[in-house]
Amino acid sequence: MSKSAPTPAGTIRVTYLGLVNAYLVPEDDGLTLVDTTLKGGVKRILAAAEGLGRPIVRIVLTHAHDDHVGGLDALAAQLPDVEVVISTRDARLLAGDTTLDPDEPRSKLRGGLKGASTVPTRTIEPGDHVGSLRAVAAPGHTPGQLAFLDERDGTLLCGDAYATVTGVATCAKPRPLFPLPALATWHRPTALASAEALRALDPARLAPGHGPVVEDPGAAMEAAVARSR
Ligand SMILES: [Zn+2]
Repeated sequence: MSKSAPTPAGTIRVTYLGLVNAYLVPEDDGLTLVDTTLKGGVKRILAAAEGLGRPIVRIVLTHAHDDHVGGLDALAAQLPDVEVVISTRDARLLAGDTTLDPDEPRSKLRGGLKGASTVPTRTIEPGDHVGSLRAVAAPGHTPGQLAFLDERDGTLLCGDAYATVTGVATCAKPRPLFPLPALATWHRPTALASAEALRALDPARLAPGHGPVVEDPGAAMEAAVARSR
């Protein structure tokens, strides 16, 4: 299924290749696009925005992996006034800087990190707001991954902290049928701690980077955390 029902706030999922998600989040001034899929997914995202009859006014990136930022340059070229938002930490990855901070675990960065030439217009920290979305720390998959909680309806846009392709799973432990998010994870203990913290938010629904939107995900998130320990 490539389309899910809109959330109560009206957010829709746009899926590329059946496996890579972006989300269009309605705000008073237009649409916030959360993640961009890959370059080939841009047409589909623009068509979905057109279908909603609203302009994309900002792009928010959960983290700097290629399958989340791959459409950024093409979108920015077609949306010249768009605001581009990412965490301060993952902005460095987006710019091609793969050095670690002195206080970060000495784990190898994994996953596609080709970066983008688009320069963010704003970098943010956990706790900051982007429209109705509150940024929540979700490091581990990448050092600066952010999840976003829509405070209107409790939807948690969790990036790759969880995937739901073969049921709800964390990225802290590879899952046999869909191991990619875990194999692309930088530091699994940190990712597990983030998964636990996101579960504690008790979201109304989980909107991941990979897989369908899951309603009332608390018990499944808890089980996924337990399996990842
Ligand atoms: Zn990722």
